[in-house]
Order: sequence, then structure tokens, then C-alpha cells
Amino acid sequence: MPQFSRLSKERLKSCHSDLQILFNRVIEDYDCSVICGHRGEEDQNEAFSNKASTKRWPDSKHNTEPSLAVDVSPYEFSGVDWGKTQSADFSGYVMGVANELFKQGIMKHRIRRGLDWNMDNDVDDTKFWDAGHFEIIPN
Ligand SMILES: [Zn+2]
Repeated sequence: MPQFSRLSKERLKSCHSDLQILFNRVIEDYDCSVICGHRGEEDQNEAFSNKASTKRWPDSKHNTEPSLAVDVSPYEFSGVDWGKTQSADFSGYVMGVANELFKQGIMKHRIRRGLDWNMDNDVDDTKFWDAGHFEIIPN
């Protein structure tokens, strides 16, 4: 069974408990790496400059403590652009697990993903393709 690295675990610990529950379940069957949890001011503004984020500090869901957002990639593509097919596969898998955990009452919040900001399950109309991004929807 795949396991998170020490670094991935540390990053995941900076995230909301529902994100921890979700990705601790996902890793059991789909090897992945946590790229980013909480982002401080300097890192957020750098992400904005690099066009990795559309928001400046402190407007991103990565800027809260705990972080309401997490960036995760399939393991074999850690930290690089892993392509549309693989990201759609991973994102769909994560959403299936998230919806199930929410229905079972194990997670208290639903999740929105960076492949489908308007949550219509149509990833082809997504303008800002942020494949590994998953965030808490406030209740
Ligand atoms: Zn993100």
C-alpha cells in the first residue's frame, strides 16, 4: 500500500482535518504527493508571480491556518506538470472518494477542485487549470 513521505505528511498536517481525512484515504489506493498545504505571505506572492495562483496573499484558501486548500499530484509526476489525461484521472478519483466520505459523514465538508471551479463536472470549460488543487467548501 502506498504511503506518504515525511514531507508530504508534514504538508498535509497544515491542512484542514477534512483534507487530511480525504488524502489519507486516497493514498491507500492512489500513490500521490502533497505539493503544498499552508502557504505563507512570501510563498503566496511568489505563486502569484509565477501564475501558479490567481490570488495574492492573504486571499488564497492556502493562506488560512489550517489551510483550506491542498495541492496534490500523482506520485510519479510529483512537482511537475503531469498532463491533462493524468490530472483528470486523479482529480476524478479524489472527488469520488471525497463525495463518498462526505455522504458517510466522515468528512464534514464537500470539496471543490481546481479542474472544475464552477462544479458542473465539465472539466473542458475550465479556464484556470489547477489540476492538483482541492479546497474545502464552507458549510
Ligand atoms: Zn492550490
